[in-house]
Amino acid sequence: MCDYGLDLIEKKRLLFAVYNEYERVVQPFKEQSICERGCASCCIDVGNVGATTLEGMIILEYLQGWDHRAIEELNRSLRENRSEKLNSALVRCPFLDEEASCRIYEVRPFSCRRLYSVKKCDGQGAVVHRQAFVLGQKAEKELQELDPEGCSGHLSFILHLLESEAFRRDYVQGRWRLEDFREIFERYKLLVHRREERER
Ligand code: SF4
Repeated sequence: MCDYGLDLIEKKRLLFAVYNEYERVVQPFKEQSICERGCASCCIDVGNVGATTLEGMIILEYLQGWDHRAIEELNRSLRENRSEKLNSALVRCPFLDEEASCRIYEVRPFSCRRLYSVKKCDGQGAVVHRQAFVLGQKAEKELQELDPEGCSGHLSFILHLLESEAFRRDYVQGRWRLEDFREIFERYKLLVHRREERER
């Protein structure tokens, strides 16, 4: 149980409720999507896969079911992704497999869920309805509010932060201090959800 009120199971339930509600309200727009299986343009050409710490924790939980070799390969891809991303490159998501499928589809973060396109991307980025974009912004804010002791950033950066046992312990207890992790937050330009930390 976290100090800030909810355990991970309950948080996960609430997180998926936000995802599901977003899917419900955005469905009339997504019906016009031309996205199809095998097209992974948004996993290759967008380069930024945003996630919250809570989403990162749920992905880590999911990865516990992977075998040792798959985890080693993933860790190598995550390391490469971090280093390329720090140079601002548009980098292929490390979770995309050889068949252009997402290896964590069930627990992919919201930044992936909100993407679709009504026009073929062709490396130019997705074309989304304005209303769907606004609904996505609203859901994103709800996800940050659901994770008040957390932060947001590029997925491989968030997972790197969560690799730190000290951060995970303090985060789960709701009492981590920015000064203890300032170097990693600055290097990865992570957004702290806690308002008083942002205002310092
Ligand atoms: S997490 Fe999955 S859906 Fe999201 S960018 Fe990566 S491969 Fe694509």
